[in-house]
Amino acid sequence: MIERKCLQCGTWNKDEDHCMNCGEPISPKEIDRVETKKRLEAEANLPKDKWELLMDRMKHHQSVFVRVIYKVIYSIGIVFAAIGGFFAWLIAMANG
Ligand SMILES: [Zn+2]
Repeated sequence: MIERKCLQCGTWNKDEDHCMNCGEPISPKEIDRVETKKRLEAEANLPKDKWELLMDRMKHHQSVFVRVIYKVIYSIGIVFAAIGGFFAWLIAMANG
């Protein structure tokens, strides 16, 4: 018989996934599952970095001029990504 102590309230439980007293996950499998879920939620709620915020502000800016600049920067970004991809392909081909 496995007995697990709840870390939350200190109640000893039998081989349960959750504490019978407070409902905290107590089995390693359950704890792992909850931790993973928490981590994913934390990552989803992570604040955007300054660059992303700036780009977002430019994208929805009331001035057409700023929105055009955003489009130009965005296009350059895509072009650089394409060039980077091309060189990565070239190096891969040269080595292959
Ligand atoms: Zn408990």
